[in-house]
Amino acid sequence: MEIYVWKGDITSIQADAVVNAANSSLMGGGGVDGAIHRVGGPKIAEECRILKLKRYPNGLPTGQCTLTSGGQLPAKYVIHAVGPVWKGGEFGEASLLESCYRNILQLAQERAFESIAVPSISTGIFAYPKELATPIAIQTVLDHKDQFPRKLALICFDKDTKDLYEKTLKELGVNFKEGIQSF
Ligand code: ADP
Repeated sequence: MEIYVWKGDITSIQADAVVNAANSSLMGGGGVDGAIHRVGGPKIAEECRILKLKRYPNGLPTGQCTLTSGGQLPAKYVIHAVGPVWKGGEFGEASLLESCYRNILQLAQERAFESIAVPSISTGIFAYPKELATPIAIQTVLDHKDQFPRKLALICFDKDTKDLYEKTLKELGVNFKEGIQSF
């Protein structure tokens, strides 16, 4: 697997799939979720509505993910993943965040996706501390490095997140590409 680190808006990325930091309701929200629905158009929301009705009447559980089309996004699909809300760290947040990344990667493997782009799940509105979320994201990705996707972009919305990702990857001796020119 080739790992890319890029600071920018995930809705602009051309990939087999981009990951949405969704919430259980699948009915949209702020942050990545808001941006994906705004740019991707109403088709994604309609697919989410049907999934909620038919498969997740009680909401998509935390740590799990589900797939819709990419609507008008440049990406073909959206993987909607629900990360944990940070409640201080004593409520299984770390294992739920790990499950979230693991389930995303498993879906990518099942679908044989060549390329996916993933935001820093839970570190926005869900308030998971970035210093704690980053090693979980990276370690879980590394555990799947011999499987699909062939290319995985870690998308950072701010410089702090990008610096943290790059520092963690360097500490682990992992090669990565800065930017998404060849993504
Ligand atoms: P959560 O509710 O899981 O915390 P958010 O969407 O609020 O999800 O934030 C997750 C991360 O994504 C945060 O680090 C946030 O800064 C970042 N982010 C917000 N909007 C975008 C975007 N359009 N593209 C990429 N990352 C984004």
